[in-house]
Amino acid sequence: MLLAPLADFVSLLFPRVCLACEEPLARGEDHICTGCRAQLPYTDYHLLPPAENPLARRFWGKVPVTHAFSYLRFLRRGRVQHLLHQLKYRGQRQVGVVLGEWYGAELRQHGLHEAFDLIVPVPLHARKLAQRGYNQSDCVAEGFANGLQLPWHAHALRRTEHTSSQTRKTRLERWQNVATVFEVAAPELLASQRVLLIDDVLTTGATLEACAAVLLAAGASSVSIATLACADR
Ligand SMILES: [Zn+2]
Repeated sequence: MLLAPLADFVSLLFPRVCLACEEPLARGEDHICTGCRAQLPYTDYHLLPPAENPLARRFWGKVPVTHAFSYLRFLRRGRVQHLLHQLKYRGQRQVGVVLGEWYGAELRQHGLHEAFDLIVPVPLHARKLAQRGYNQSDCVAEGFANGLQLPWHAHALRRTEHTSSQTRKTRLERWQNVATVFEVAAPELLASQRVLLIDDVLTTGATLEACAAVLLAAGASSVSIATLACADR
């Protein structure tokens, strides 16, 4: 803890900026400014009955998902896109941890920690992990685990193939691209567990769908999904 004058001096040299809007943070603010925190596009999907949750409905008829939550609505060129970019490409792991903690704590306030036993992030392929140095979904999972006060495990799933970028693919192509690339690495961890599967962002849902199917096949008693952000289709 720095003394206040020294902290002010350090912040003159290295201004701490909001990870969402890049404006300087005030004293007492951490990572994301109060203004952004008030204006982020929260989905509040956890407040809806499961049958009325539009995110859960996206998985109907594909894979049985008990709960599906996403903290924020993904809007192009907005604060949320900026945050996710910082998390994924700019080394700002705390974006995942902090937002995961905030949402995890909110879910816990609604008693939802009782719905899960284990938190599992969507894995990166080893080559991608070596390139980036970290898996952004691990950061998000760690945040959710802190907020929900539940255990998480980074190596329950494994990505066996290096998939090509999903961004220019149709829904069917995305599904074909990921359908067979995940496998369970630690089946003993998953037996009879109610798993909360974590990713940074949900676009088509194909990746989460593939992981959920693998988890259920390995003996997980249920799978739910939580992401920091979700895009409209
Ligand atoms: Zn801000």
